[in-house]
Amino acid sequence: MGTRPESMTRRSDTPTPTGPVRTCTGCRKRALRSDLARLVLDDSTSRVEVDQARCAPGRGAWLHPSRECLDLALRRRAIGRALRAAGPVSTDAVVAWFDQQELRASDAPVDESSTKKAGWKPMGTR
Ligand SMILES: [Zn+2]
Repeated sequence: MGTRPESMTRRSDTPTPTGPVRTCTGCRKRALRSDLARLVLDDSTSRVEVDQARCAPGRGAWLHPSRECLDLALRRRAIGRALRAAGPVSTDAVVAWFDQQELRASDAPVDESSTKKAGWKPMGTR
C-alpha cells in the first residue's frame, strides 16, 4: 500500500543470520535476539530489570551482556528511551546483573591449583 521504495533499497547488504535480530541499545549493532539481554521496565516502580526468560510482557530494550554496551546505553540514557519511559528510570538492578555476568565470566576459567575443592572456604565479608 504506502510502501516507499527508498526504504527497501539497502535490504540486501546485511546477510541475515538465522533467527530474529534486535538492535543493541548500547552499541546500536544488530545481533541475534538470543545473544542479547532483554531489559523491561516495571511501570509501577520505574525500575528497569533484566528479563532473563525474554518473555515478559510489554516493551523490551535489548543489550549485549557486556559492560561496554551497558555504559554506552546509560551514558546516552538510551534504555529509558527504548522502553518509552515517561520519566527517569532506575537501572540499579540492571547494573547489578551486568556486574554479576562479568564476575561469572572472569570466574569461569579458574584452573589455579590453589583453589581446589579441598575444604577451602572463601572468607566471609563481615
Ligand atoms: Zn552492544
